Amino acid sequence: MIQREIAVIGAGVAGLASAILLSRQGHRVTLYERFDRPQPLGSGLMIQPTGLAALQRLGLRHGLEALGHRIERLHGLTARGTTVFDLAYADLRPAWHAIAVHRAALHGVLWDGFVRSGAALETGCDVTSVDERAGGRAAPVDARGRHLPAADLVIDASGARSALRQIVTARQPMPFVYGAVWATVPDRSLSPGALSQRYVSARIMIGYLPLGRLSADAPDCAALFWSLKPQTYGLWRAGFQSWREYAAGLWPEIAPVLAELEGPDAFALARYAHFTAPRLSRGPLVLVGDAAHVTSPQLGQGANQGLIDAVVLSDALAACGEIAEALRLYEKRRRRHVRFYQHASALMTPFFQSDSGLLGGIRDLSFRHFKRVPYLSREMLRTLAGLKTGLFTAAAPEEIVNCVPAAPESLHIPVAREQ
Ligand SMILES: Cc1cc2nc3c(=O)[nH]c(=O)nc-3n(C[C@H](O)[C@H](O)[C@H](O)COP(=O)(O)OP(=O)(O)OC[C@H]3O[C@@H](n4cnc5c(N)ncnc54)[C@H](O)[C@@H]3O)c2cc1C
Repeated sequence: MIQREIAVIGAGVAGLASAILLSRQGHRVTLYERFDRPQPLGSGLMIQPTGLAALQRLGLRHGLEALGHRIERLHGLTARGTTVFDLAYADLRPAWHAIAVHRAALHGVLWDGFVRSGAALETGCDVTSVDERAGGRAAPVDARGRHLPAADLVIDASGARSALRQIVTARQPMPFVYGAVWATVPDRSLSPGALSQRYVSARIMIGYLPLGRLSADAPDCAALFWSLKPQTYGLWRAGFQSWREYAAGLWPEIAPVLAELEGPDAFALARYAHFTAPRLSRGPLVLVGDAAHVTSPQLGQGANQGLIDAVVLSDALAACGEIAEALRLYEKRRRRHVRFYQHASALMTPFFQSDSGLLGGIRDLSFRHFKRVPYLSREMLRTLAGLKTGLFTAAAPEEIVNCVPAAPESLHIPVAREQ
């Protein structure tokens, strides 16, 4: 295989995974990060069966499972106690589950893999542009105009606010009306093995997700989140005490967790936006992770998608002699899966986070009945597990992360060996 010089921009989920895989393939990889110390921001997330298959390819699945909390089920109720959904991965296949993990734990596992990979790291580099050079090469350029060493391929893994993706597409991210505040709290075993949520219409959502441990000797923690319009964040902070009482009234079981919170500073505000790149590369610059596709975390797929992007891109580079050919293969293999989840997230989010009383009402009346229709129940589970490649198609996790399937059509086949 041809050894190439590769610059990866951003030491997040997709950037670390890309750097590990490409360095292992023998490429000379340099990872550029704007912070002086790579650091994860925020609370927890869920790694779905597809993300676990990608971590398996990275050789990091076991390390993540040792820290995270095994999630068997998603359980959402209205504040009056009516079930909105109750989905168990095992109904799809007995061994399947997700892993909920603190961001710092996922970052730590990827970081250990990165350190072992032999890739180089340059911190304090805020990369905002690339300078295309002769021979199809490009030099990343930082915010101070400094030209970094030229590379055969520049991978933009700089996340939802990427400055580089405008080189690939003029399309801009659209903000969602609702975001959320997230806190990391001690896990009080309120929801073992499950992501639990409570809703009032689509305006109010509170969730509790057990996350496991930050490190081997740390205590168990959980994520607590509350749906919020970013423009009302100041009001929410000012009325924190009344909010705490209101939230405890909605969900009395979590009152002890709420009581332990010192104040609004325990939470971080997350804004959500929606963006799907119409194409994934231009010249030697290619987009992965949130730089390529970002949406609300309603379906919990973003980090999974970033991990899969990294595996598929590195496989494409291993399979193709020319970079341009590899980038076409990467785009072809990722297109259907990414588009399905971008559309599905945009469609689902207003049922859970919007001012629409109608959508909240439809959700409360209809979603629980889907479980009784085997086809709909199965499709909801496949969607959750990250397996969908189109409205009527799905694939097993190993196939989704497999860049070069035995038969190209296998992308479209239904999940095999299901229950
Ligand atoms: C509240 C919330 C909950 C979520 N829950 C889930 C979930 O349950 N499951 C799931 O799969 N996903 C979830 N997601 C989505 C997931 O967090 C993202 O999809 C994922 O982190 C994207 O990874 P990334 O590597 O593309 O970007 P990031 O993780 O954002 O990493 C980008 C990196 O690039 C660096 N960087 C940025 N700009 C520059 C620059 N100019 N130069 C150099 N470096 C730069 C950043 O410092 C950072 O290190 C959630 C997101 C949010 C906000």
